[in-house]
Amino acid sequence: MDVLRTVANFVFGMECLGCGTSSEKLDPWLCPTCAAELARESRSPKFPNEDSFCLFPMRPLTRRLVHALKYRNIPGLASYLVRRSSAVKHGEVAQELLMLAQPLYFVPVPLHRARYRERGYNQAELLAAALATAMGGKVCRWLRRKTFVVSQTKLSKEEREMNVAEAFVACLPQELPTRGSIVVVDDVFTTGATTSACLAALGTEIPLPLKVCTLIYDEPASAAADFAADCRADWDAFRGK
Ligand SMILES: [Zn+2]
Repeated sequence: MDVLRTVANFVFGMECLGCGTSSEKLDPWLCPTCAAELARESRSPKFPNEDSFCLFPMRPLTRRLVHALKYRNIPGLASYLVRRSSAVKHGEVAQELLMLAQPLYFVPVPLHRARYRERGYNQAELLAAALATAMGGKVCRWLRRKTFVVSQTKLSKEEREMNVAEAFVACLPQELPTRGSIVVVDDVFTTGATTSACLAALGTEIPLPLKVCTLIYDEPASAAADFAADCRADWDAFRGK
């Protein structure tokens, strides 16, 4: 029976991305229990500093989902998660964004080209598109990566900051907008090093207010450093490997 279920899950993809159990009531990614848990988590958006808004805290469930978005080739999770964020629907993040000078320009943190080729999509760009749909505004690819960045997750905090401090360059249209606000979008906010580097690159080129919005806020320091290892361990345990 287990073998049949595994085969059915493989063929029909009827496994909850949160807890791994088979369910006929997926929405289409989570079972009702995990969907309720996600709804609870969405009521705790995080604000790591006055310019940064994060839709969900990092918890076992949200960690699995962001991992699936990045590494399991499920790009549809980006808009799914933004749509399920109560902070976006009618909460604090929506209020913060709507208080900014409009229109909103959502600028995704770019992936390195090699990683984009391997993944086929940039999750930050998908999140930016979902935010632009939810809040009004448009997606602007106004950042480019200058140099190859070694996977952030393998580095110490200091190394990460040095590594990304000058990793981005602004790539703006000839005619700059004179009003509105820029919101840099990324999947996870850890130390804030990546988004700070993006703000620094844009700030010297364009005189508009700059904010940051990410899907997840991960507690700083140690949790961030071994995020990748944790994810792998979690996922392997969860898959029963
Ligand atoms: Zn579940």
